[in-house]
Amino acid sequence: MAMQSPRFIVIGAGMAGILSAVKLAEAGFDDVVLYEKADRIGGTWRENTYPGVACDVPSHLYSYSFAPNPEWSHTFSPGPEIYSYLEDVVRLFGVDERIRYGTEVTRLEYDGGRWRVETADGGRDEADVVIAATGVLHHPRYPDIDGLDDFGGAVFHTARWDHSVSLEGARLGVVGTGSSAVQIVGAVVDTVDELRLFQRTAQWVLPVPNSPLTADDRARFREDPSVMREMREQLSKTFTEGFANAVVDKDSPQMKALEQMCHANLDGHVADPELRERLRPPYRAACKRLVISPNFYEAIQRPNAHLVTDGIERVEKAGVRTVDGTLHELDVLALATGFRVDRFMRPIDVVGRGGVSLDEAWAKRPSAYLSISIPEFPNLFMLNGPNGPVGNFSLIDVAELQFGYVMQLVEGIADGRWREVSARREAMEEFEAARVERAQNTVWVTGCRSWYLDDRGIPAVWPWSFDRFREEMSRPNLEHYDLIT
Ligand code: NAP
Repeated sequence: MAMQSPRFIVIGAGMAGILSAVKLAEAGFDDVVLYEKADRIGGTWRENTYPGVACDVPSHLYSYSFAPNPEWSHTFSPGPEIYSYLEDVVRLFGVDERIRYGTEVTRLEYDGGRWRVETADGGRDEADVVIAATGVLHHPRYPDIDGLDDFGGAVFHTARWDHSVSLEGARLGVVGTGSSAVQIVGAVVDTVDELRLFQRTAQWVLPVPNSPLTADDRARFREDPSVMREMREQLSKTFTEGFANAVVDKDSPQMKALEQMCHANLDGHVADPELRERLRPPYRAACKRLVISPNFYEAIQRPNAHLVTDGIERVEKAGVRTVDGTLHELDVLALATGFRVDRFMRPIDVVGRGGVSLDEAWAKRPSAYLSISIPEFPNLFMLNGPNGPVGNFSLIDVAELQFGYVMQLVEGIADGRWREVSARREAMEEFEAARVERAQNTVWVTGCRSWYLDDRGIPAVWPWSFDRFREEMSRPNLEHYDLIT
């Protein structure tokens, strides 16, 4: 029997949750609720407000295909602008009325063909389909450094930036050298009195200029949106061919070209040979997620900036003590130490068919067929789930492609072709085996530690080309699904 209007619950009102709400409405599904634990939309762009926060994917590519934005101020626009863009989309597409703010989903249980949902405020709900749009880089990873609680100044993670603390004339310490730290260093070096960057591992830096878009550019985009569309396509092509396809083929000419650009950046822009060598990573460029910055080397060479490469011994009331015995006195300590990347929709307590819990299903590590569906968790779909394409390209593009795929499975529920759909275990295992084998071809396994690598040292990432991803997402292979009618 056809189920005319399935009820959808979307978890998270960040980039992917907003996308889901817009696309479900466009497809004519109107029984849709978004649960958002915070009091505002925005996901990563709500949580990351550190100085200098920006997206290192060009803004005209880091936009929904259905909501091009002529007003972007820069090639790589700052975080607050991205946040406003998401707010505009929410308003324009009427998403706001579907969102229940301040409502954290704590439990999902599949029972009697439906998902029963519990929220932290004691609420109960039910859904035929659940879409987990809960993000990847979401749970801050706090470093295990002795004495952090003893620090006399302000200490916080970059995703929990405390804006009540003034940096004007402060002695700031930053722990970590990933994309977040590098953006912060460039943004605050001229504001703080002294900046100490605690580097455990050096990073390769790809210099990409961030040009402002002019008033004329914006007028042109407004008058003729096809110019924006063409630009988006061009950017997508450049990113796919120049970057996405390079990192999955470690011996490709594109990969070598990227490496050369990073080497030339370091050799050409750091004057002091001693500092240059301390900034030189002992592994191949793009092995760790590549850092993109037009100004990091310039910033770290300012007279008030100090690169600290002696390991951290402990944090004391007055600052950070390194293993050489030096006490680096500080007023503020920012922990740019990244995220716990194996959580996904957890800590939600998810219980699938036959009482199997997500923690059991993921006891070894998170996995999902094509990063979207988990065996025995029917009618539950993830956007930006485990082992999907993450890298220096647009996660909006990724989520849109994934959503188009999910929609085809959902339409089968709506028109009565099946009631329940979840990946077959064999399909997931075959996908995993192929993924692990192919991962050996990527630059991510060429000898570095990074958040891409799982407990076995296998990159928890899509290891094929972006074109292959696009093709896989164009149509589900129904033989790979358990379809219950
Ligand atoms: P990250 O890339 O995971 O970097 C964490 C840094 O902290 C690393 O340098 C790490 O050193 C260091 N660290 C961790 N624990 C430490 C400890 N106990 N002692 C000393 N150092 C420690 O984190 P992130 O910079 O927040 O970036 C995470 C991801 O977010 C990025 O890779 C990117 O995908 C995304 N992001 C994107 C943008 C953008 O512009 N699009 C901006 C920010 C973030 P080791 O290298 O030695 O482990």
